Amino acid sequence: MPLFDENAEKKTNVARESRFVRLVTGMPTVVQILEHDSVAKYQHWLTTSDGKRVSVRCTGFLSCPVCARNASIDNDRDNPKYVASQRRYMINVIDLTMVKRSPNTGEIFIATKDTNGRFIYSDRDSAGNSLVDVVAEPWKAVKVLEGGPRLFKKLQSLAETTLGSDGTPRDPTAYPLQIVRVGDGRDTDYLLSALVGNAATVNPADYTDQVIDLRADSGFTRDEVEAILSGTTIKDIFAARVANTQSISDDLFDLELGD
Ligand SMILES: [Zn+2]
Repeated sequence: MPLFDENAEKKTNVARESRFVRLVTGMPTVVQILEHDSVAKYQHWLTTSDGKRVSVRCTGFLSCPVCARNASIDNDRDNPKYVASQRRYMINVIDLTMVKRSPNTGEIFIATKDTNGRFIYSDRDSAGNSLVDVVAEPWKAVKVLEGGPRLFKKLQSLAETTLGSDGTPRDPTAYPLQIVRVGDGRDTDYLLSALVGNAATVNPADYTDQVIDLRADSGFTRDEVEAILSGTTIKDIFAARVANTQSISDDLFDLELGD
């Protein structure tokens, strides 16, 4: 047991819009992986009585309230109350997607799809300042890349087949990679390519103080999951937490991002 563990209190992300990389269908997203191992977990996505989509950690058949409810309806997948668990993987990355940053408001703009299907940047910030002359640059925000087996198998395969001059795999944290999400729903797939030598390449060591501790369990408690299942709103759950002087995590509101 170390008396001093420099990794014991990693900074967690609270200020950013979302701590998750958002993979938008058809849009190239560029990230660089910051660590060598992903974290895997099972989770359920629940819709709360106030219409929020929240992910709750599945703790297994014997202790998970969602699995218990599934069992109570004979695991009938056609029953609207049935909520399957999904295996999810997470890893810290630095998001190097090209964004425009307003010099006036500090707002960050990613390209969004226009009516012709092209990805374009907003031409104004929220204060009305023109962004036309602002040059897009890599975002450089530390985030969590989260996905299912399909995406992470592809990441593993890319790492194994991206070889250095000596014919062995390169360090997967040493180069950016591009991810393009294609298709939707069950047909969602990902096109990955390694961007070895890309100008946006960063030194992962410069970001170690920002990585998020993915093993820390900051999700809902068992009592809270049971409350969600019985119709308690997220607002009331957080109000109860405040009453109990627990901290609120806005990470729980992140969107479902597909497989
Ligand atoms: Zn479960």
